[in-house]
Amino acid sequence: LHLSIRRQRQMCIRDRVKALADERFVLLYQPIYNLEREKITHCECLVRMLTDDKQMLSPAAFLDIAKDNGLMPRIDYLVLKMALLQLRAWADNNIHLKLSVNITAATFESERFVQQLRQLLLETGARSSQLIFEVVETEAINNLESAKALCDRLADLDIQIAFDDFGIGFTSFEYLRDLPVDFIKIDQSFIRYLYKRKSDQLLVKSMVDMAVALGKKVVAEGVEDDGSADLLREMGVHYLQGYYISRPTRANELDLNYTMPIT
Ligand code: C2E
Ligand code: MG
Ligand code: MG
Repeated sequence: LHLSIRRQRQMCIRDRVKALADERFVLLYQPIYNLEREKITHCECLVRMLTDDKQMLSPAAFLDIAKDNGLMPRIDYLVLKMALLQLRAWADNNIHLKLSVNITAATFESERFVQQLRQLLLETGARSSQLIFEVVETEAINNLESAKALCDRLADLDIQIAFDDFGIGFTSFEYLRDLPVDFIKIDQSFIRYLYKRKSDQLLVKSMVDMAVALGKKVVAEGVEDDGSADLLREMGVHYLQGYYISRPTRANELDLNYTMPIT
C-alpha cells in the first residue's frame, strides 16, 4: 500500500513537472557570507516547486523525476532566467550581489548552452559578471577537455564557476587540477559536525590549504553553529553558507545588512 501511494505521488509530481508551467517554480535565495568583507556578497539560488495548495517542494522531491524524464534542461534554463531577472532588478536598485546558480552537468555540457545563455543575458539585461555557475562533479562531466573549453568561454564572459559538493566524489582532485574553477564549495557532510569531529577538522583544513594554494576561493556550506563558523574562519575559508547565517528565503525577505557576530 505504501509503495503504491508513493508511486502515485511520484506520478503526480511527474505530470506536474511535465506541465512545467513557469509559475510552478519559485527561486529561494540563500545568503553567502564573505568573511573578509564581513557582509553578504553572494546568494545561491535554490529552486522550489509549488504544489496546488501552494506548498513548496524541495528539489529532492522532484529533481530526480525531472532528470529521468529529460526535463532538466528546461528547469535549468527557467531557473537561469529567473536568476538573471533578479540580478537585473537588483542592479536597477543599485544592489550588487552575485548569484550562484546550480546547473546540471548535462545542460552545462550541451552544444547550445552558451548560445542560450547569451540569449537570456540579452533578454534580461543582466550583467554576466554577476553570475556564477555551480557544477556538481559527481554528476560526471563526460568530457574534461570540452568542459575546460566551456569554462574558458564562460570566463571570457566574466562568468565564474564553482565546484559544488567538493570532497565527496572520486574525481574531485582531478577536476580541481584540470578545470579552471574559481570556487570550491566544501560538501556539507564535512561541515555539519565540524565543531565536534576532529577528523572533519583535519580534512577540511587540508582541503582549504590545497584550494588556497591553487588560487581558488573556498565556500563552506551547511554551517549551522558558531563553533564551526569560528573554526572555518581560522582555517582561512573565504565564505560561509548555512542555516547559521540564514536559511534560503524569498528575495524580498533577504537581510542584506547581516553581519556575523565575532565571538
Ligand atoms: P546544493 O547546491 O549543494 O545546495 C545546498 C542545499 O543545502 C540546499 O538544499 C540548501 O537549502 C541546503 N542547506 C543550506 N544550508 C544548510 C544548513 O545549514 N543545513 C542543512 N541541513 N541544509 C542546508 P535544497 O535547496 O533542498 O537543494 C538540494 C540540492 O538540489 C542542491 O544542493 C542542488 O544540487 C539541487 N538544486 C537546488 N536548486 C537547484 C536548481 O535550481 N537547479 C539545479 N539543477 N539543481 C538545484
Ligand atoms: Mg549548489
Ligand atoms: Mg552543495
